[in-house]
Order: sequence, then C-alpha cells, then structure tokens
Amino acid sequence: MAEMKKYKAGRMIMGRLEHGADLLEEITEICRKEDIRMGRVEAIGAVSVARIGFYNQDTHEYQFFTIDQPLEILSLAGNVSIKDGESMVHAHVVLGDKEGKAFGGHLAAGTIVFACECIVEILEGPTLERGLDEKTGLPLWNI
Ligand code: ZN
Repeated sequence: MAEMKKYKAGRMIMGRLEHGADLLEEITEICRKEDIRMGRVEAIGAVSVARIGFYNQDTHEYQFFTIDQPLEILSLAGNVSIKDGESMVHAHVVLGDKEGKAFGGHLAAGTIVFACECIVEILEGPTLERGLDEKTGLPLWNI
C-alpha cells in the first residue's frame, strides 16, 4: 500500500539558470541556498549536452549516457527532499532533438544549460529523508 504524507503548497521561486551551468548542480545549489527541504521542481529550456541515466533493475546500477548535441528541455520534473542531511534534487527530463525526437531519463550531473527557466515550489509538511531501500537498491524515502 502506498504511503503518502500531506503537504501544503508554500511560496514559489522562479528564475533563469546561468548559461553554461550544470543543470542538476545549479538547481541543487538554489535549493540549498534557499534552505528548501521539501519541494517540487519543474523547468523548460535547452541544454548543449545531456547526461542522463537509466536504472538497471537487475544489476541495481545506473547506466549513464551522454547525448552530445543541442537539445530542448521539453520537460523537467523533480522533487526536493533530504539525503545525508542536505537538500537533494531528484529530477527526470524529457529532451527533444532538432527533428522532435525525444530522449529521456534520470537527470545526472554533466548536463549543461544553454538556457533554462526553472520553478521551485516549496512544500510545507513532514521532511522526507532518503535512505537505502534494500528491494530496489535505490535511496528512497523513509516513510
Ligand atoms: Zn530517477
């Protein structure tokens, strides 16, 4: 059975990320600077190179790959919670190429911003901390 907590939508911050910044690291830094412990992230824009991952459910390891070309961020959806005492951003992206073909996966460091408009919604409620989940091998929320 799913275990859910209740949250109230708090303030939102919205802005433009820096050209040449690492997409995941920049959003993480914003959350840490603003002391956002629980939140929701969304963004659109473009990247000059992408590094994304696919979680192999058999080996319990991420398989990362790089797409070395300009891509649109069609959708970035993610959340903010706590891992090892610090705010951590977990985000997935759908990226589109010049023919409109889409790629997607778990956003990893190494994805470089060309231009990006980002919104973070702060959620008020219980803090979720990530810890190793034995069944999946993933750092899931301890609920
Ligand atoms: Zn993921």
